Amino acid sequence: MRTVLAGDLGGTKCRFALVSADYAVHRVQQVPTVRERAAFLDRLERAMRSILQDLPPGLEAPVAAGFGTAGVIPLDGGSISRAPNLPLDGFPLAQHVRDRFGIPVTLLNDGRASAWGEYLRGNAKGLDPLLCLFFGTGIGIGLIVEGKPYAGAANAAGEIGHTVFRPGGRPCPCGGTGHFESYCGGRAITERATNELGARAGGWTVGSVVQHAGAGAPTSPLAQAIVDDAAEAAIAVTANACTLLNPAAVVLGGGVISGWPGLEQRLIDGVRAATTPMIHERLVFAHSLAGSDAILWGAAAATGALWPRP
Ligand SMILES: [Zn+2]
Repeated sequence: MRTVLAGDLGGTKCRFALVSADYAVHRVQQVPTVRERAAFLDRLERAMRSILQDLPPGLEAPVAAGFGTAGVIPLDGGSISRAPNLPLDGFPLAQHVRDRFGIPVTLLNDGRASAWGEYLRGNAKGLDPLLCLFFGTGIGIGLIVEGKPYAGAANAAGEIGHTVFRPGGRPCPCGGTGHFESYCGGRAITERATNELGARAGGWTVGSVVQHAGAGAPTSPLAQAIVDDAAEAAIAVTANACTLLNPAAVVLGGGVISGWPGLEQRLIDGVRAATTPMIHERLVFAHSLAGSDAILWGAAAATGALWPRP
């Protein structure tokens, strides 16, 4: 069966696999993301080579590779920019992989890749337009319109996490201030907890900040303020996106949602309250697929070698 090599390049880990034409995901390899470029590229190459060794009967060697990655993919499609958690800024990754593996390489923003995977195989399969919001380390977004990801004029659409929630507010890793991501991104939540509540053994997680807010400790009101800001920002950014785009369905996912019991329902209720009936009456909310196979499916779709390409 025909296959492509698919990758999910994330800020903390990278996953690679073969995706076959029946959507099955084979031979997943996962490596932690390191910040040093040469070491990063070495791990990436070794993970991919181990996938390709001794392919099981019935699976052909991949005809193309597709990577979903954090950051913006410039129009030439060959590199990644504005990916603060990957050591690849401006690096010609597509050419690098093509030189080593001899197959064409497609790069796709990971929010767009996830959304495409959700549209193809997820809980909101086939619902169009489909809006996917991933509250992870940062905020990822993907919009599917007429069966394919919407990319914008310069391949840069969707950075709604870097629009303003509170003018002049908290600094954002992108260099701006008051952005949604600096209130409801997972990294912002845990960094703010460290700054305002003090260091915690093993470090803060979104879940531990939420627990601390309800713990009745002297610093619990500070944790509650962090949690309230995060919920308010998450509701506002989702409601804003729904009002702008009028999607048929919204897929919610990411570590902030999975690590914070109750947030998803609070978000759904908040969005219904903050939007007009035209927007929310028929709106379907769906859980994102567990794990990150959605990114692998989307990255595989982007190659155009297994399923229709936009
Ligand atoms: Zn920002």
